[in-house]
Amino acid sequence: MSDRLPILLVSLILVSISATSACAARALVTVSERSAVRSGPTDSHARITVLPPTARLWATGRVGTWYKVSLYSGLDGWIAASDVKELGTDVKLDTARLTDMSLSLQDGRIRVLMYLTDRVPFRIRQSVFPAQLDIDLFRCAAAQEGIRQFPGVAGVIPLVPQQMANDWTQITLQLPNVHQAGYRASYTSGGHLVVDINPSFADAGIAGKRIAIDPGHGGPDSGAVGPTRVREKDVNLAISMLLARRLQAEGAQVILTRDRDTAVSPGAGKGGELAARVDVTKAANADLFISVHNNAVGGGNAATAKGSECYYWTPMSRLLAIKLQEGLVSALGTRDRFVGWQRFAVLRETDCPRALVECAFMSNPQEEKLLADPKYQSRAAEGLYAGIKNYLAEAVTPPGPMPDAPMQDTPQPDGPEPLTPRMDAPQIELFGVPPMETER
Ligand SMILES: [Zn+2]
Repeated sequence: MSDRLPILLVSLILVSISATSACAARALVTVSERSAVRSGPTDSHARITVLPPTARLWATGRVGTWYKVSLYSGLDGWIAASDVKELGTDVKLDTARLTDMSLSLQDGRIRVLMYLTDRVPFRIRQSVFPAQLDIDLFRCAAAQEGIRQFPGVAGVIPLVPQQMANDWTQITLQLPNVHQAGYRASYTSGGHLVVDINPSFADAGIAGKRIAIDPGHGGPDSGAVGPTRVREKDVNLAISMLLARRLQAEGAQVILTRDRDTAVSPGAGKGGELAARVDVTKAANADLFISVHNNAVGGGNAATAKGSECYYWTPMSRLLAIKLQEGLVSALGTRDRFVGWQRFAVLRETDCPRALVECAFMSNPQEEKLLADPKYQSRAAEGLYAGIKNYLAEAVTPPGPMPDAPMQDTPQPDGPEPLTPRMDAPQIELFGVPPMETER
Protein backbone atom coordinates (compact mmCIF):
# COMPACT_ATOMS: atom_id res chain seq x y z
CA MET A 1 0.00 0.00 0.00
CA SER A 2 2.75 2.42 1.03
CA ASP A 3 4.28 2.55 -2.48
CA ARG A 4 1.00 3.99 -3.74
CA LEU A 5 1.08 6.93 -1.35
CA PRO A 6 3.33 9.17 -3.50
CA ILE A 7 1.06 8.60 -6.52
CA LEU A 8 -1.96 9.57 -4.43
CA LEU A 9 -0.21 12.71 -3.21
CA VAL A 10 0.84 13.69 -6.73
CA SER A 11 -2.70 13.25 -8.04
CA LEU A 12 -4.08 15.31 -5.14
CA ILE A 13 -1.67 18.11 -5.98
CA LEU A 14 -2.61 17.92 -9.68
CA VAL A 15 -6.33 18.05 -8.83
CA SER A 16 -5.84 21.10 -6.65
CA ILE A 17 -3.81 22.87 -9.34
CA SER A 18 -6.42 22.27 -12.04
CA ALA A 19 -9.13 23.41 -9.61
CA THR A 20 -7.18 26.59 -8.94
CA SER A 21 -6.62 27.38 -12.60
CA ALA A 22 -10.35 26.88 -13.35
CA CYS A 23 -11.19 29.10 -10.42
CA ALA A 24 -11.66 32.47 -12.06
CA ALA A 25 -14.79 34.58 -12.40
CA ARG A 26 -16.19 34.60 -15.93
CA ALA A 27 -17.49 37.66 -17.74
CA LEU A 28 -21.04 37.37 -19.14
CA VAL A 29 -23.11 39.51 -21.49
CA THR A 30 -26.93 39.48 -21.60
CA VAL A 31 -28.38 38.38 -24.94
CA SER A 32 -32.14 38.11 -24.21
CA GLU A 33 -34.65 40.93 -24.65
CA ARG A 34 -35.40 40.62 -20.90
CA SER A 35 -32.90 38.87 -18.64
CA ALA A 36 -34.12 38.48 -15.07
CA VAL A 37 -31.53 38.41 -12.28
CA ARG A 38 -33.12 36.42 -9.46
CA SER A 39 -32.49 35.81 -5.78
CA GLY A 40 -31.94 32.09 -6.40
CA PRO A 41 -31.43 29.59 -9.22
CA THR A 42 -35.08 28.91 -10.18
CA ASP A 43 -37.77 30.77 -12.12
CA SER A 44 -39.83 31.10 -8.95
CA HIS A 45 -37.19 33.09 -7.07
CA ALA A 46 -37.81 36.84 -6.80
CA ARG A 47 -36.50 39.12 -9.51
CA ILE A 48 -33.81 41.48 -8.29
CA THR A 49 -33.72 43.27 -11.61
CA VAL A 50 -34.44 42.70 -15.29
CA LEU A 51 -31.65 43.63 -17.69
CA PRO A 52 -31.82 44.61 -21.37
CA PRO A 53 -29.43 43.08 -23.94
CA THR A 54 -25.66 43.86 -23.85
CA ALA A 55 -25.31 44.34 -20.06
CA ARG A 56 -22.01 42.85 -18.82
CA LEU A 57 -21.58 41.16 -15.46
CA TRP A 58 -19.36 38.73 -13.58
CA ALA A 59 -20.37 35.10 -13.02
CA THR A 60 -18.85 33.61 -9.88
CA GLY A 61 -20.34 30.14 -10.18
CA ARG A 62 -22.86 27.91 -11.84
CA VAL A 63 -25.56 25.46 -10.79
CA GLY A 64 -27.17 23.51 -13.63
CA THR A 65 -28.61 26.03 -16.09
CA TRP A 66 -28.07 29.06 -13.81
CA TYR A 67 -25.07 31.32 -13.34
CA LYS A 68 -24.41 32.91 -9.98
CA VAL A 69 -23.61 36.54 -10.75
CA SER A 70 -22.14 39.42 -8.80
CA LEU A 71 -24.17 42.60 -9.32
CA TYR A 72 -21.76 44.51 -7.11
CA SER A 73 -19.50 43.40 -4.27
CA GLY A 74 -22.45 43.47 -1.84
CA LEU A 75 -25.15 41.74 -3.89
CA ASP A 76 -25.23 38.44 -5.75
CA GLY A 77 -27.97 37.08 -7.96
CA TRP A 78 -28.73 34.29 -10.41
CA ILE A 79 -29.32 34.47 -14.15
CA ALA A 80 -30.51 31.77 -16.55
CA ALA A 81 -27.70 30.51 -18.80
CA SER A 82 -30.03 30.91 -21.81
CA ASP A 83 -30.16 34.69 -21.19
CA VAL A 84 -26.39 35.23 -21.38
CA LYS A 85 -23.26 34.41 -23.32
CA GLU A 86 -19.82 33.89 -21.79
CA LEU A 87 -17.27 36.43 -22.95
CA GLY A 88 -13.69 35.32 -23.59
CA THR A 89 -11.57 34.37 -20.61
CA ASP A 90 -9.35 37.38 -21.41
CA VAL A 91 -12.25 39.81 -20.80
CA LYS A 92 -11.93 41.62 -17.47
CA LEU A 93 -14.80 43.73 -16.20
CA ASP A 94 -13.41 46.67 -14.25
CA THR A 95 -15.52 48.87 -12.03
CA ALA A 96 -17.11 51.25 -14.52
CA ARG A 97 -17.48 54.98 -14.01
CA LEU A 98 -20.46 57.27 -14.37
CA THR A 99 -18.88 60.28 -16.06
CA ASP A 100 -21.92 62.47 -16.74
CA MET A 101 -25.68 62.58 -17.08
CA SER A 102 -28.17 64.52 -19.15
CA LEU A 103 -31.90 65.11 -19.08
CA SER A 104 -33.88 66.10 -22.15
CA LEU A 105 -37.41 66.10 -23.53
CA GLN A 106 -37.99 63.63 -26.38
CA ASP A 107 -41.54 63.39 -27.81
CA GLY A 108 -43.10 64.39 -24.51
CA ARG A 109 -40.99 61.91 -22.55
CA ILE A 110 -38.02 62.62 -20.33
CA ARG A 111 -34.84 61.02 -21.55
CA VAL A 112 -32.22 60.40 -18.86
CA LEU A 113 -28.90 59.53 -20.44
CA MET A 114 -26.18 58.14 -18.18
CA TYR A 115 -22.69 58.23 -19.64
CA LEU A 116 -20.92 55.07 -18.50
CA THR A 117 -17.56 53.52 -19.30
CA ASP A 118 -19.17 50.05 -19.49
CA ARG A 119 -22.61 48.46 -19.85
CA VAL A 120 -23.07 47.65 -16.18
CA PRO A 121 -25.93 45.76 -14.54
CA PHE A 122 -28.51 48.10 -13.01
CA ARG A 123 -31.80 48.13 -11.15
CA ILE A 124 -34.64 50.64 -11.31
CA ARG A 125 -37.15 50.88 -8.51
CA GLN A 126 -40.37 52.83 -8.89
CA SER A 127 -42.14 54.30 -5.93
CA VAL A 128 -45.31 56.38 -5.87
CA PHE A 129 -45.00 57.49 -2.21
CA PRO A 130 -42.87 59.53 -2.69
CA ALA A 131 -43.07 59.80 -6.48
CA GLN A 132 -39.60 58.84 -7.65
CA LEU A 133 -37.39 56.42 -9.54
CA ASP A 134 -34.20 55.08 -7.97
CA ILE A 135 -31.61 53.89 -10.46
CA ASP A 136 -28.89 51.66 -8.99
CA LEU A 137 -25.81 51.41 -11.20
CA PHE A 138 -23.94 48.31 -10.09
CA ARG A 139 -20.23 47.64 -10.68
CA CYS A 140 -20.08 51.39 -11.09
CA ALA A 141 -18.48 54.30 -9.25
CA ALA A 142 -18.97 58.02 -9.76
CA ALA A 143 -16.11 59.41 -11.86
CA GLN A 144 -15.64 62.49 -9.71
CA GLU A 145 -16.87 63.95 -6.42
CA GLY A 146 -20.07 65.19 -7.99
CA ILE A 147 -21.97 64.78 -11.22
CA ARG A 148 -23.27 68.18 -12.22
CA GLN A 149 -26.85 68.71 -11.18
CA PHE A 150 -29.39 69.72 -13.76
CA PRO A 151 -32.42 71.88 -13.42
CA GLY A 152 -35.46 69.64 -13.71
CA VAL A 153 -37.08 68.93 -17.05
CA ALA A 154 -40.90 68.76 -17.15
CA GLY A 155 -41.00 68.44 -13.38
CA VAL A 156 -38.42 65.63 -13.16
CA ILE A 157 -35.65 66.59 -10.74
CA PRO A 158 -32.46 64.53 -10.56
CA LEU A 159 -30.74 64.51 -7.17
CA VAL A 160 -26.94 64.43 -7.05
CA PRO A 161 -25.82 60.82 -7.67
CA GLN A 162 -24.71 59.04 -4.52
CA GLN A 163 -21.92 56.53 -4.33
CA MET A 164 -23.35 53.89 -1.98
CA ALA A 165 -20.39 51.48 -2.08
CA ASN A 166 -17.10 51.20 -3.98
CA ASP A 167 -18.95 49.68 -6.91
CA TRP A 168 -22.53 50.92 -6.52
CA THR A 169 -23.80 54.35 -7.51
CA GLN A 170 -27.39 55.44 -7.02
CA ILE A 171 -29.31 58.10 -8.93
CA THR A 172 -32.64 59.35 -7.62
CA LEU A 173 -35.12 61.13 -9.87
CA GLN A 174 -37.94 63.01 -8.17
CA LEU A 175 -41.10 62.90 -10.27
CA PRO A 176 -43.87 65.49 -10.37
CA ASN A 177 -46.88 63.19 -10.10
CA VAL A 178 -47.68 60.08 -8.04
CA HIS A 179 -49.69 58.82 -11.02
CA GLN A 180 -46.75 57.95 -13.27
CA ALA A 181 -47.26 56.77 -16.82
CA GLY A 182 -44.29 54.41 -17.34
CA TYR A 183 -40.59 54.07 -18.05
CA ARG A 184 -38.23 51.83 -20.00
CA ALA A 185 -34.47 51.34 -19.92
CA SER A 186 -31.98 50.20 -22.55
CA TYR A 187 -28.38 50.56 -23.66
CA THR A 188 -27.53 52.72 -26.66
CA SER A 189 -25.22 51.36 -29.34
CA GLY A 190 -22.59 53.65 -27.79
CA GLY A 191 -22.92 51.85 -24.45
CA HIS A 192 -24.74 54.54 -22.48
CA LEU A 193 -27.76 53.77 -20.33
CA VAL A 194 -30.99 55.43 -21.42
CA VAL A 195 -34.11 55.62 -19.28
CA ASP A 196 -37.16 57.09 -21.00
CA ILE A 197 -39.76 58.24 -18.52
CA ASN A 198 -43.35 59.27 -19.09
CA PRO A 199 -43.80 61.15 -15.81
CA SER A 200 -47.53 61.75 -16.31
CA PHE A 201 -50.13 61.97 -19.06
CA ALA A 202 -50.26 65.32 -20.82
CA ASP A 203 -54.05 65.50 -20.61
CA ALA A 204 -57.04 63.50 -19.42
CA GLY A 205 -58.57 63.00 -22.85
CA ILE A 206 -59.11 59.61 -24.50
CA ALA A 207 -58.41 61.20 -27.90
CA GLY A 208 -54.88 60.50 -29.08
CA LYS A 209 -54.11 57.96 -26.35
CA ARG A 210 -52.64 54.62 -27.45
CA ILE A 211 -54.64 52.02 -25.56
CA ALA A 212 -53.69 48.34 -25.75
CA ILE A 213 -56.46 45.80 -25.24
CA ASP A 214 -55.54 42.17 -24.76
CA PRO A 215 -58.44 39.71 -25.13
CA GLY A 216 -57.24 36.83 -22.92
CA HIS A 217 -56.60 33.36 -24.44
CA GLY A 218 -57.59 32.50 -28.04
CA GLY A 219 -56.98 29.84 -30.67
CA PRO A 220 -56.21 26.48 -29.06
CA ASP A 221 -56.45 28.03 -25.58
CA SER A 222 -60.14 28.41 -24.70
CA GLY A 223 -59.51 29.78 -21.23
CA ALA A 224 -62.24 28.86 -18.76
CA VAL A 225 -65.23 26.92 -20.10
CA GLY A 226 -68.61 27.42 -18.41
CA PRO A 227 -71.14 24.74 -17.40
CA THR A 228 -72.97 25.11 -20.75
CA ARG A 229 -69.64 25.21 -22.68
CA VAL A 230 -69.46 28.99 -23.18
CA ARG A 231 -65.76 29.68 -23.79
CA GLU A 232 -63.89 32.46 -22.00
CA LYS A 233 -61.80 33.30 -25.09
CA ASP A 234 -64.97 34.17 -27.05
CA VAL A 235 -66.44 36.33 -24.27
CA ASN A 236 -63.09 38.10 -23.76
CA LEU A 237 -62.85 38.86 -27.47
CA ALA A 238 -66.45 40.13 -27.70
CA ILE A 239 -66.02 42.52 -24.75
CA SER A 240 -62.62 43.66 -26.04
CA MET A 241 -63.93 44.44 -29.54
CA LEU A 242 -66.82 46.47 -28.08
CA LEU A 243 -64.39 48.36 -25.84
CA ALA A 244 -62.05 48.96 -28.79
CA ARG A 245 -64.87 50.45 -30.88
CA ARG A 246 -66.00 52.67 -28.02
CA LEU A 247 -62.46 54.00 -27.50
CA GLN A 248 -61.89 54.48 -31.24
CA ALA A 249 -65.10 56.50 -31.46
CA GLU A 250 -63.55 58.88 -28.91
CA GLY A 251 -60.36 59.21 -30.95
CA ALA A 252 -58.11 56.68 -29.19
CA GLN A 253 -55.62 54.62 -31.12
CA VAL A 254 -56.38 51.05 -30.08
CA ILE A 255 -53.86 48.23 -30.23
CA LEU A 256 -55.51 44.79 -30.02
CA THR A 257 -53.25 41.82 -29.32
CA ARG A 258 -55.78 39.76 -31.30
CA ASP A 259 -59.02 40.63 -33.12
CA ARG A 260 -60.13 37.08 -33.90
CA ASP A 261 -60.01 33.59 -32.48
CA THR A 262 -56.28 32.94 -32.69
CA ALA A 263 -53.12 32.70 -30.61
CA VAL A 264 -50.90 35.79 -30.86
CA SER A 265 -47.84 33.57 -31.26
CA PRO A 266 -49.08 30.15 -32.43
CA GLY A 267 -47.03 27.26 -31.10
CA ALA A 268 -44.98 29.42 -28.74
CA GLY A 269 -46.25 27.76 -25.56
CA LYS A 270 -47.85 29.58 -22.65
CA GLY A 271 -44.79 31.67 -21.71
CA GLY A 272 -44.05 32.56 -25.34
CA GLU A 273 -47.68 33.49 -25.96
CA LEU A 274 -47.76 35.91 -23.01
CA ALA A 275 -44.37 37.37 -24.00
CA ALA A 276 -45.71 37.96 -27.52
CA ARG A 277 -48.66 39.91 -26.10
CA VAL A 278 -46.27 42.05 -24.10
CA ASP A 279 -44.01 42.58 -27.12
CA VAL A 280 -46.88 43.69 -29.37
CA THR A 281 -48.00 46.34 -26.90
CA LYS A 282 -44.49 47.53 -26.06
CA ALA A 283 -43.59 47.89 -29.72
CA ALA A 284 -46.73 50.01 -30.22
CA ASN A 285 -45.69 52.35 -27.37
CA ALA A 286 -49.02 51.85 -25.62
CA ASP A 287 -50.04 54.45 -23.01
CA LEU A 288 -52.22 51.93 -21.17
CA PHE A 289 -52.59 48.16 -21.25
CA ILE A 290 -55.74 46.27 -20.28
CA SER A 291 -56.03 42.49 -20.40
CA VAL A 292 -59.64 41.27 -20.51
CA HIS A 293 -60.49 37.96 -18.83
CA ASN A 294 -63.30 36.14 -17.09
CA ASN A 295 -62.92 34.07 -13.99
CA ALA A 296 -63.54 30.48 -12.99
CA VAL A 297 -63.15 28.28 -9.95
CA GLY A 298 -63.59 24.57 -9.62
CA GLY A 299 -64.75 22.39 -6.76
CA GLY A 300 -67.44 23.27 -4.22
CA ASN A 301 -67.44 27.01 -5.01
CA ALA A 302 -67.92 26.62 -8.77
CA ALA A 303 -71.64 27.42 -8.72
CA THR A 304 -71.53 30.17 -6.10
CA ALA A 305 -68.35 32.22 -6.70
CA LYS A 306 -69.33 35.42 -8.52
CA GLY A 307 -68.29 38.99 -9.11
CA SER A 308 -65.49 41.14 -10.52
CA GLU A 309 -61.77 41.32 -9.80
CA CYS A 310 -59.01 43.48 -11.14
CA TYR A 311 -55.23 43.04 -10.88
CA TYR A 312 -52.14 45.22 -11.13
CA TRP A 313 -48.43 44.74 -10.40
CA THR A 314 -46.32 47.91 -10.77
CA PRO A 315 -47.06 50.66 -8.22
CA MET A 316 -48.16 53.12 -10.92
CA SER A 317 -50.83 50.66 -12.16
CA ARG A 318 -52.82 50.51 -8.95
CA LEU A 319 -55.06 53.48 -9.71
CA LEU A 320 -55.90 52.06 -13.15
CA ALA A 321 -56.95 48.76 -11.56
CA ILE A 322 -59.07 50.55 -8.96
CA LYS A 323 -60.88 52.63 -11.59
CA LEU A 324 -61.50 49.65 -13.91
CA GLN A 325 -62.92 47.68 -10.98
CA GLU A 326 -65.24 50.58 -10.04
CA GLY A 327 -66.37 50.88 -13.66
CA LEU A 328 -67.13 47.16 -14.00
CA VAL A 329 -68.95 46.83 -10.69
CA SER A 330 -71.14 49.84 -11.34
CA ALA A 331 -71.94 48.88 -14.96
CA LEU A 332 -72.64 45.20 -14.27
CA GLY A 333 -73.89 45.30 -10.68
CA THR A 334 -71.48 42.48 -9.91
CA ARG A 335 -70.11 41.63 -6.49
CA ASP A 336 -67.08 43.83 -5.79
CA ARG A 337 -64.59 41.10 -4.90
CA PHE A 338 -61.25 42.93 -4.79
CA VAL A 339 -58.44 44.78 -6.51
CA GLY A 340 -55.46 42.45 -6.27
CA TRP A 341 -51.68 42.72 -6.52
CA GLN A 342 -50.53 39.83 -8.68
CA ARG A 343 -47.37 39.02 -10.61
CA PHE A 344 -49.02 38.14 -13.95
CA ALA A 345 -46.63 38.06 -16.92
CA VAL A 346 -48.55 40.71 -18.87
CA LEU A 347 -48.54 43.08 -15.86
CA ARG A 348 -44.83 43.06 -14.97
CA GLU A 349 -43.59 45.45 -17.65
CA THR A 350 -42.92 49.02 -16.60
CA ASP A 351 -43.53 50.74 -19.96
CA CYS A 352 -47.05 51.90 -19.02
CA PRO A 353 -49.78 51.31 -16.42
CA ARG A 354 -51.09 47.76 -16.88
CA ALA A 355 -54.15 46.02 -15.44
CA LEU A 356 -55.96 42.72 -15.89
CA VAL A 357 -59.72 42.49 -15.36
CA GLU A 358 -61.83 39.45 -14.53
CA CYS A 359 -65.30 40.77 -15.43
CA ALA A 360 -67.35 37.92 -13.95
CA PHE A 361 -67.32 34.15 -13.42
CA MET A 362 -67.60 31.70 -16.32
CA SER A 363 -68.02 28.90 -13.78
CA ASN A 364 -71.12 30.46 -12.21
CA PRO A 365 -74.24 29.37 -14.20
CA GLN A 366 -76.00 32.76 -13.86
CA GLU A 367 -72.94 34.79 -14.75
CA GLU A 368 -72.02 32.41 -17.60
CA LYS A 369 -75.48 33.01 -19.12
CA LEU A 370 -75.09 36.79 -18.73
CA LEU A 371 -71.55 36.79 -20.18
CA ALA A 372 -72.81 35.04 -23.33
CA ASP A 373 -75.38 37.83 -23.85
CA PRO A 374 -74.21 40.63 -26.21
CA LYS A 375 -76.13 43.21 -24.12
CA TYR A 376 -74.22 42.22 -21.00
CA GLN A 377 -70.93 42.20 -22.95
CA SER A 378 -71.72 45.71 -24.08
CA ARG A 379 -72.33 46.81 -20.46
CA ALA A 380 -68.98 45.28 -19.46
CA ALA A 381 -67.24 47.21 -22.24
CA GLU A 382 -69.04 50.40 -21.14
CA GLY A 383 -67.87 49.82 -17.55
CA LEU A 384 -64.26 49.40 -18.68
CA TYR A 385 -64.55 52.51 -20.83
CA ALA A 386 -65.80 54.49 -17.83
CA GLY A 387 -62.92 53.09 -15.78
CA ILE A 388 -60.33 54.27 -18.33
CA LYS A 389 -61.95 57.72 -18.54
CA ASN A 390 -62.06 58.11 -14.75
CA TYR A 391 -58.49 56.84 -14.42
CA LEU A 392 -57.15 59.42 -16.88
CA ALA A 393 -59.13 62.22 -15.21
CA GLU A 394 -57.63 61.40 -11.84
CA ALA A 395 -54.13 60.54 -13.12
CA VAL A 396 -53.57 64.03 -14.52
CA THR A 397 -54.81 65.89 -11.45
CA PRO A 398 -52.06 67.57 -9.41
CA PRO A 399 -50.19 65.38 -6.91
CA GLY A 400 -52.22 64.39 -3.91
CA PRO A 401 -52.93 61.42 -1.70
CA MET A 402 -54.12 58.25 -3.41
CA PRO A 403 -57.79 57.40 -2.84
CA ASP A 404 -58.78 54.61 -0.52
CA ALA A 405 -59.07 51.45 -2.57
CA PRO A 406 -61.68 48.75 -2.16
CA MET A 407 -58.86 46.40 -1.18
CA GLN A 408 -58.82 43.12 0.64
CA ASP A 409 -56.06 40.68 1.12
CA THR A 410 -55.35 39.25 -2.28
CA PRO A 411 -56.17 35.58 -2.63
CA GLN A 412 -53.87 33.76 -5.01
CA PRO A 413 -56.03 32.63 -7.96
CA ASP A 414 -53.77 29.83 -9.13
CA GLY A 415 -52.51 28.65 -5.78
CA PRO A 416 -49.85 30.40 -3.74
CA GLU A 417 -46.41 31.13 -5.10
CA PRO A 418 -43.92 29.17 -3.03
CA LEU A 419 -42.47 31.61 -0.51
CA THR A 420 -39.22 29.70 -0.18
CA PRO A 421 -38.69 27.93 -3.47
CA ARG A 422 -37.46 24.43 -2.87
CA MET A 423 -34.16 23.51 -4.36
CA ASP A 424 -32.60 20.09 -4.65
CA ALA A 425 -29.23 21.24 -3.48
CA PRO A 426 -26.97 20.50 -6.45
CA GLN A 427 -23.28 21.08 -6.05
CA ILE A 428 -22.29 24.62 -6.96
CA GLU A 429 -19.33 24.92 -9.27
CA LEU A 430 -17.35 27.93 -8.08
CA PHE A 431 -15.50 30.12 -10.58
CA GLY A 432 -13.93 32.39 -7.94
CA VAL A 433 -14.34 36.05 -7.10
CA PRO A 434 -13.90 38.94 -9.54
CA PRO A 435 -10.30 40.15 -9.66
CA MET A 436 -9.29 42.99 -7.34
CA GLU A 437 -9.28 46.39 -8.86
CA THR A 438 -5.83 47.91 -9.32
CA GLU A 439 -5.42 51.46 -8.07
CA ARG A 440 -5.89 54.09 -10.72
ZN1 LIG B 1 -58.46 34.00 -18.46
